[in-house]
Amino acid sequence: MTKPPMLTAQQALDHLLSHAKPVVECEKIAMQATLGRVLAENVDSLVDVPPLDNTSMDGYAVRTADTQVTGRVLRIAQRIPAGSIGTTLEPGTAARIFTGAPVPPGADAVVMQEDCAIPDGSTDQVQVNIAPASGQWIRRRGEDLTTGKTCLAAGTFLRPQELGVAASAGLTHLNVKRRVRVAAFFTGDELALPGEPLKPGGIYNSNRDTLLACLKSLGCDATDLGIVPDRLDATREALRKASKDHDLIITSGGVSVGEEDHIKPAVTAEGRLDLWQIAIKPGKPLAFGAVRKSDEPKDGEAWFIGLPGNPVSSFVTFLLFVRPFILKLQGREAKSPQSYLMRADFDWLKADRRNEFLRVKLNNNDGLDLFPNQSSGVLTSASWGDGLVDCPPNQPIKAGDLVKYIPFDALLK
Ligand code: AMP
Ligand code: MG
Repeated sequence: MTKPPMLTAQQALDHLLSHAKPVVECEKIAMQATLGRVLAENVDSLVDVPPLDNTSMDGYAVRTADTQVTGRVLRIAQRIPAGSIGTTLEPGTAARIFTGAPVPPGADAVVMQEDCAIPDGSTDQVQVNIAPASGQWIRRRGEDLTTGKTCLAAGTFLRPQELGVAASAGLTHLNVKRRVRVAAFFTGDELALPGEPLKPGGIYNSNRDTLLACLKSLGCDATDLGIVPDRLDATREALRKASKDHDLIITSGGVSVGEEDHIKPAVTAEGRLDLWQIAIKPGKPLAFGAVRKSDEPKDGEAWFIGLPGNPVSSFVTFLLFVRPFILKLQGREAKSPQSYLMRADFDWLKADRRNEFLRVKLNNNDGLDLFPNQSSGVLTSASWGDGLVDCPPNQPIKAGDLVKYIPFDALLK
């Protein structure tokens, strides 16, 4: 019997994303608590920003009709600091004005103080040494935000600058999508938590910290369901528990088809499963499916993604597959992560049949260095590295070649 061909990364991702549906529930929360959330509705500004035409420079507000000739001397008739309002500027006068202060009626330009001089001995006169164009250094009322107009659209992911825009628009609370709820557990009889004694052959559970931190950096509510022994009944029980109150279950380990790998039969018994061999390295086996919420039939099912146990494989498959799935659940665009064409300062001649993701680091010559040990068990490669080189199948890399580089930073938000 011939084995079915392995899926490409793109085919597997398309399949995953065709299932993911954005969460619909939302909540109104204090604006300052919305960093990393997704807007559930448009935000309309409550005010004009700026509220009035104002100056973007310290200097003098003038009528350009008075300053067609350079060197004109004007009487300083008023002084307008930010936060106060001037009076109509009479012909032949100037207003001393400071950044952010409203331009007085009648003035149609601001001359910055560096372009002016105070005549010797004068306390109330200014000499204007340029002929300003009408509108110079004036920021127009509403040029940033307009009352009643949408300034942030539903579906926007809220970064620090969006919080600033919402504050500028006068909002105290925003209606955002609820957080995506993800339960995670980690299979393996060999696993112990740091701080616990290691039995012979035991290792510390590193995937727990890597994956929970990945979930946090994506803004998920993550539930840690701990280490689950390599037994079918324990795995089924963990799945039932995880399906409660969660949108997605992720697991590490046990997704191969050895007799110590119980994920496949457990998910099949508690829901449904596709187990894929994806033509990528690291991270060939990936399981995708759903687990019934058995005690709450009306609530349907929780999605399931089973990651391989090797620490680099689970990290890389999280970034490539779980992350876009979560982005879509969050109502964000699950577009491909930003990548850059960069120069490889290394040879990678043993190209694989699979699409490889190599751990690399930016060097001081704007090139990429390769971590010498690319084993899927060597997690220090990911910690040493700044990102991944997406290396197509069967394509060796020679030093000097341009390669597709994906920084980790782009994959962790
Ligand atoms: P598995 O996918 O369960 O066959 O595990 C593959 C390899 O990853 C084995 O060497 C495991 O010991 C290791 N491994 C599995 N789970 C973890 C974990 N949570 N943390 C660190 N290593 C793990
Ligand atoms: Mg295992």
